[in-house]
Amino acid sequence: MAKCPVCFRHCNIEEGGLGFCGGRTAEGGITKAYNYGRITSLALDPIEKKPLARFCPGSYILSVGSFGCNLRCPFCQNYEISWSEEAKVFAKEARYLSPEEVVDLALETRDRGNIGIAFTYNEPLIGYEFVRDTAKLAKERGLKNALVSNGTAEPDILAEIAPYMDAMNIDLKGFTDEYYRDLLGGNRRQVMDFITKAVETAHVELTTLIIPGENDSEEEIRELAQWVGGLRNPDGDQVPLHITRFFPQFHMTDRGPTDVKKVYHLADLAREYLKYVYVGNC
Ligand code: SF4
Repeated sequence: MAKCPVCFRHCNIEEGGLGFCGGRTAEGGITKAYNYGRITSLALDPIEKKPLARFCPGSYILSVGSFGCNLRCPFCQNYEISWSEEAKVFAKEARYLSPEEVVDLALETRDRGNIGIAFTYNEPLIGYEFVRDTAKLAKERGLKNALVSNGTAEPDILAEIAPYMDAMNIDLKGFTDEYYRDLLGGNRRQVMDFITKAVETAHVELTTLIIPGENDSEEEIRELAQWVGGLRNPDGDQVPLHITRFFPQFHMTDRGPTDVKKVYHLADLAREYLKYVYVGNC
């Protein structure tokens, strides 16, 4: 049995078993990334798709993902590889790529505008060892690194990858403790602490997906934007916020997509506190 140090769940994992996220196992009394190098998704994406609006605009980034997640968002946009039954199939079929192979692929696509590697699609930090090893090598070879995360890893894990990370997009999924706890299975305070630490070393942008009837009140967006307005990126500038539109899928099909007018209205409210607010999926 080993206690996992990676996220707030601190699972006790039996030898050879799996943690809650499905991405970590225990071997010899310590936990390790079961999903190390086991790639389910690989694409050369525009950087704006991460989304990162104010980091190397117009460039591309080789985006890699594995499987597993430590949250339980019923509306997950990547449920095939996060926490669904399909994710277990993907876990079996994922092909192995070493950090060297991923870095070589990134270098080969430089002439297509690629600036580096983005760790994304599932929650990358449940397999932080692969992120750390790959990002370190990528940096040594002149590439940039970006992380797209739900921001629920412990500070020690962030400290392991921070030296190699140039940019991050972190979900700030809502701004009430209840929303994080009851709908997503997470902890808002921990995400806020993660973001506060992340802005010390990397260019950070945040994403809030607006779910009708859940996190879409004017009051909540104002409070969220006010808090974000107090953060500063390493260059001293404000942290950009992406406000995105929900579409029904996975376990949340009981409501329609977010009204486009509502997304734009909430973005306008956020602009009362923030210089950089972007809308997405509209
Ligand atoms: S990273 Fe996975 S195994 Fe570790 S504590 Fe979190 S959910 Fe459990």
